[in-house]
Amino acid sequence: MSEAITTPVAALTGLRRSFTQGDITIEVLRGVNMQIMPGEIVALLGPSGSGKSTLLQAVGLLEGGFSGQIEIGGVVASALSASERTAMRRENLGFVYQFHHLLPDFNALENVVMPQMIAGANRADAEGRATELLGALGLSQRLEHRPSQLSGGEQQRVAVARALANRPRLVLADEPTGNLDEATSERVLGEFLSLVRGEGSAALIATHNERLAAKMDRVVRLHDGVLQPD
Ligand code: ADP
Ligand code: MG
Repeated sequence: MSEAITTPVAALTGLRRSFTQGDITIEVLRGVNMQIMPGEIVALLGPSGSGKSTLLQAVGLLEGGFSGQIEIGGVVASALSASERTAMRRENLGFVYQFHHLLPDFNALENVVMPQMIAGANRADAEGRATELLGALGLSQRLEHRPSQLSGGEQQRVAVARALANRPRLVLADEPTGNLDEATSERVLGEFLSLVRGEGSAALIATHNERLAAKMDRVVRLHDGVLQPD
């Protein structure tokens, strides 16, 4: 067999981002280099204000203002048009935020069905997939609950199911359990990681919790605007 060359799900080269406020410029990212391989779960550690969210927004193709190169699945994102970038995001990436950002007027099942239908799935398939994911997260009895009728931990589980609904190659999570108490945080993160592993997705998960980071495959630290491996 010939040697397989695996393409990273995400590759960052010389990524820079600064913010200017009045006459003060803060260089948040000063040349970040990173590759995430298929199925790899990477913890992004760094104190508050170190640039974790800024980095995730860059990888998520959610924000402009960056220099350097971002490749998703071997394709250079900056070479794409806005609509191609939207399609790239939809086809490859899933997002989990610190606050769930679920649609308040839709129940748990509908919140997980919706992104699949936007991506072109039919309703029956989307509902099957949503039921399966929510079931794997222990929410079989909560399918018809709206976000306001769910606990914080349950809301984040729905957000996890939604992020995985379209089988992303890479899940980006910004302090996904940062809003939960410690015991719930640990439990939800454990379920999140095993679901991501079971699906074979890669993930980049920002946290400032060392113990949670230790459960992932690899840890990178954001310090002085660059990434340092452990
Ligand atoms: P973290 O997620 O690690 O807490 P952030 O990426 O949110 O860090 O922020 C990193 C730094 O960039 C902070 O000093 C913050 O004040 C600054 N920053 C982030 N977003 C903006 C913005 N839109 N405008 C100006 N400064 C920003
Ligand atoms: Mg942040």
